[in-house]
Amino acid sequence: MATNQQLVSMAQKALMGVYKPAPIVLYEGRGCRVKDVEGREYLDMCAGVAVVSVGHSHPAMVAAISGQAARLMHVSNLFYNERAIELATELGKRTPFDRFFFCNSGTEAVEAMLKLARRHHFQRGDRERSELVSTLGSFHGRSMGSLTLTGEPKYQEGVGPLMGGVRHVPYDDPAALRAAVNERTAAVVLEPIQGEGGIVVPGDRYLAEARSICDRAGALLLFDEVQTGFGRTGRFLACEHSGVVPDACALAKGIAGGFPLGALAVSEKVAPALQPGSHGSTFGGNALGCAAALAVLRIFDQEKLIENAERVGKHLGERLQAMADDPAIPAAAGARGRGLLRGIVLAETVDPAMTVQKIREAGVLLSLAGGNVLRFSPPLCVSQTEIDEAADHVIPVLRDAPGKSPS
Ligand SMILES: *Cc1c(COP(=O)(O)O)cnc(C)c1O
Repeated sequence: MATNQQLVSMAQKALMGVYKPAPIVLYEGRGCRVKDVEGREYLDMCAGVAVVSVGHSHPAMVAAISGQAARLMHVSNLFYNERAIELATELGKRTPFDRFFFCNSGTEAVEAMLKLARRHHFQRGDRERSELVSTLGSFHGRSMGSLTLTGEPKYQEGVGPLMGGVRHVPYDDPAALRAAVNERTAAVVLEPIQGEGGIVVPGDRYLAEARSICDRAGALLLFDEVQTGFGRTGRFLACEHSGVVPDACALAKGIAGGFPLGALAVSEKVAPALQPGSHGSTFGGNALGCAAALAVLRIFDQEKLIENAERVGKHLGERLQAMADDPAIPAAAGARGRGLLRGIVLAETVDPAMTVQKIREAGVLLSLAGGNVLRFSPPLCVSQTEIDEAADHVIPVLRDAPGKSPS
């Protein structure tokens, strides 16, 4: 087999330079562990950015996907397939939503949600209501619509003009939200916890206040649970922690354990906004993706993975808080998050990318969020022992954290 280095140099010639991956080529995985092409093993605390929800190559996932592939993969939305019907029915039992639209990614789910919001008011004759209110520091995707919602200018550089009619307000600031929402507002779009923005958990009342601000103004409340959904925070959806039910919600990442799938979940009230012809997706809701998502749900039940996310997530939180509180680890300036979506805020003086690299060299895969937050988003099957093993590798690196080079 080719070495990491050989493959990386081929990659650098053949792949567009859209990403800057670590110089390792991963080859196989099981549970929370992956190996590169040279057989070096890593503990995976990244899980493909909160995607590999039931762990790598779970035998029941492999069986569900290969079984479905052998029977029927795709028929388009000109016909029904059983798996999509089953998945929508099952999601209806597990969430406060009534109806579902399937697509292939988080971005697509957000995009469908935006069209739903504007069309909802359009169909009711309220054609002035087209404004969308989003938050600074948010991440909603990279298509032109979802990118406009994304509250981070660095992702928007050089690709304008963007979609019109979007306002950004500071996150976790009910007064700013109240001031921005009016009779022209179609919808407010929020992440229950900002993921890419740095695992920012809002105050306990924020989502409930957003709900009442929207209700009073006649605007829809939309949640982007692409990162926080599917058990990640120790509940099926993160909005359950607050008791707030939005009018629609975008799902993806962990939904099918690594198979590309997204979903828009909506209440009966707003479902009629997307009529035949108003939206669609060739691949969306294909039998293979839906079979993968159904397998994820079965594994969640059999292995009690949402309960595991809560219990082991609490342990992870305690380990990270202990690092943040330890005067011998000044690099860890804070710890935050919920369930198995957590982060260590790195001190100003620390080089985040170099820290991630050193942790990888110590055998643990992590990603960064918000530029300076070490994100832990392991598979939901992670054990307390694996968390401890990861922490034991991370601590020495943080004790001796690489400083920023003067520039
Ligand atoms: C990852 C993410 C997206 C984009 O999902 P893709 O599958 O990359 O299109 C949108 N919103 C949130 C909150 C995300 O974390």
